[in-house]
Amino acid sequence: MLPYGRQSIDQSDVDAVVAALGSDWLTTGPRVAQFEADIEAVAGAPAVTVTNGTTALHAAYAAAGVGPGDEVVTTPMTFVATASGANLFGAKVIFADVEDETANLDPAAVEAVVTPRTKAITAVDYAGHPAEYDALRKIAERVGAVTIGDAAHAIGSTYHGRPVGTLADLTTFSFFPTKNLTTAEGGAVASTRADLLARARTFRNIGMVRDQDKLRHPDEGGWFYEVQSFGLNFRLPDLLCALGSSQLARLAGFKAERQRLTARYDELLGDVPGLRLPVQREGVDPMRHLYPVRVLDGRRREVYDRMREAGIGVQVNYIPVYWHPVYEDLGYQRGMCPVAEAFYAEQLSLPLFVGLTDADQDRVVEALRNILGS
Ligand SMILES: *Cc1c(COP(=O)(O)O)cnc(C)c1O
Repeated sequence: MLPYGRQSIDQSDVDAVVAALGSDWLTTGPRVAQFEADIEAVAGAPAVTVTNGTTALHAAYAAAGVGPGDEVVTTPMTFVATASGANLFGAKVIFADVEDETANLDPAAVEAVVTPRTKAITAVDYAGHPAEYDALRKIAERVGAVTIGDAAHAIGSTYHGRPVGTLADLTTFSFFPTKNLTTAEGGAVASTRADLLARARTFRNIGMVRDQDKLRHPDEGGWFYEVQSFGLNFRLPDLLCALGSSQLARLAGFKAERQRLTARYDELLGDVPGLRLPVQREGVDPMRHLYPVRVLDGRRREVYDRMREAGIGVQVNYIPVYWHPVYEDLGYQRGMCPVAEAFYAEQLSLPLFVGLTDADQDRVVEALRNILGS
């Protein structure tokens, strides 16, 4: 089966991991700070590494101080972790609808649901296309909320020349193998605000504080540390950070290849009937994580099944988050976000990854053409 996404590992990646394995530090060593600095160079803001994109969101909600009585406004057109991280802290999640064009959080829909209780507004850069953060930030500032960007798809994207990582107060990344770069499992939180990043950093290390000038009882001795807030162990080991730095050195090449394959899909699929192709807004230079088409005329399920039968691993991104029984059981009902649901009903992600050959891509296009009849 041709996958919809997969990693690209070369000899430089293998060498980096082997070198880390032979070093003194398997975890909590110098390769962690190195990878964090390398992320900052791309994201434009200091970063803290964590074990995956889900724990990155968890740490971001911890940093934002989300808790019981708070509301978090987010998109339903995402992986469940974007929202569930807030639920785990006892907050109420409010789903606002998306824009038809990009499937990103619609600022007008957010405007309609924010309240003085809104603690965070979390957008997703769907498929790698940055959300409308300038509009979202204005709303957040008015109600005193923090903006969070779930950029699991979007490391390396820019918006009017500004990198993803600087667009929201907190930005989270995932380094799962299907994403734009991989550490097997891995993730990061970046922030333009030192106070928020410090809280994420402390949270990912069990809440431990060692800085002499931050200790409540500083005279105990050299071994002393304090836990001043609750946290978890979300540390990404040096082995995986070594892989991350090596992959990041290849990121510009990954981006160019994803953009080339996207342009090729645009060209080859332009005249196929019954399809709507993804768009790119003015001023955006996206990392193309997904190639999401819309299959019209109620044929998405048929096309999904027939592509899979042909050995082409298409995917649906995403099931609206509030359709999951864990939300259904809290009273969320289908129909809440009609634009997102209409998008979901037609959405299909075609294979897109570094290493997809032109011949593979031609096979995907031919299979689609056969099914849709042109
Ligand atoms: C992949 C993904 C996550 C979760 O990342 P993991 O590393 O798999 O935990 C969160 N949000 C979005 C939008 C994702 O695509």
